[in-house]
Amino acid sequence: SAGRVVVVGGGFGGTACARALKRADARLQVTLIEPNKTYVSCPFSNEVIAGLREIEAQQFGYDRLAAAGITVVAQAATAIDAQKRRVTTSDGTAFGYDRLVLSPGIDFHPEALPGYDEVASETMPHAWKAGAQTLLLRRQLEAMPDGGTVAIAIPANPSRCPPAPYERAGLIAHYLKTKKPRSKVLILDAKDTFSQQRLFEQAWKELYGDMIERVALSQGGRVTSIDAATKTIVTEFGNYTPDVANVIPPQRAGRIAGVAGVADATGWCPIDPVTFESKLVPNVHVIGDASLGGGIPKSASAASAQGKAGAAAIVNLLAGRTPEAPRLTGVCYSTVAPGYGFSLAGNYQPRGDIFAEVEGGATSPVDAPRELRAREATEAERWFQAITADCFG
Ligand code: FAD
Repeated sequence: SAGRVVVVGGGFGGTACARALKRADARLQVTLIEPNKTYVSCPFSNEVIAGLREIEAQQFGYDRLAAAGITVVAQAATAIDAQKRRVTTSDGTAFGYDRLVLSPGIDFHPEALPGYDEVASETMPHAWKAGAQTLLLRRQLEAMPDGGTVAIAIPANPSRCPPAPYERAGLIAHYLKTKKPRSKVLILDAKDTFSQQRLFEQAWKELYGDMIERVALSQGGRVTSIDAATKTIVTEFGNYTPDVANVIPPQRAGRIAGVAGVADATGWCPIDPVTFESKLVPNVHVIGDASLGGGIPKSASAASAQGKAGAAAIVNLLAGRTPEAPRLTGVCYSTVAPGYGFSLAGNYQPRGDIFAEVEGGATSPVDAPRELRAREATEAERWFQAITADCFG
């Protein structure tokens, strides 16, 4: 064999990487370790919450990866021995590697938001990992009486998909306007400004009038603790007891990154942006949300681009060649109502220890005819078809 590569995490980053490795060199032994038999996609899960789409449209399996010659192991990675270059899974099996790729996504910071834990998430869902949480939030919206308040608590950056909480606010408002028009969406935000703010605020006004209210950081919007027993959200300036509480907590790299020793004090993983190799542990590469990407927003688009670029670097490293500096492109669509979307496209290149945005990016114009918004909503659907086909086959 041309080498053994183990990939941990079968999300957008891990699947893109595993497939690109196998495509680049069929002799590579590629193993993908992922505990879930079905992946549930976060992109477009806000549509599920708003009742515009069924969860089945979000689900993808790993059969096509197996058919491509990738060994798919339905276990969680539980330990990594960087000296012996070995990953152990929950059933005790050990997998040796020449290079290890970690794409575990995010986990929540247990101390960052006092009172918010697994149990609290059963009544105050985050829905920041798609699946049961997505459906729970949808059911809570369906059960809420007309005239109720839905609060969305948004953390500071870095966090997974910075525009997605605002997309969610719009789509929830769409549901409420259609089914429960006296209701409100209250955004409690740990940020003062956010990506594509003018586009979002203009769309909210145009589509939903005063239905969406946002309390920014400087107005006391940062959530400081949660009392799950009374379903209370505590902010710097006051307490809120909304009918539905969607609490998106502060995040860090998926737990296994800490176990592997590749996460630093920020909770994220510093990497060499040319090879995605960890700055802390040799022969371990980190891609996707878990990595410290600098200017590159944490998105499925970025994770899959990083997966492919990381695969190319690993193939070169295994062959004793010098990897080339990658140029990554990412595009993020936000849909604020059916047929109303906009986008943000960026290009990124290594600069020092991080990725920096370079020329060639584009954002949808603030003043644009509805026809363009409709076209971008269609393009968003096409993007989803393409990226899921690319990653899962
Ligand atoms: P993930 O896709 O989360 O995959 C991580 C995988 O690792 C999981 O399958 C997990 O089970 C597995 N794993 C974790 N620990 C272990 C372990 N110990 N052993 C084995 N496996 C493990 N991005 C976009 O580009 N466009 C969008 O429109 C968009 N919309 C979004 C909407 C919402 C509501 C949210 C929350 C996110 C959205 N995103 C979007 C962001 C996107 O979902 C993430 O950036 C992307 O999933 C990151 O890919 P990843 O591979 O890093 O992590």
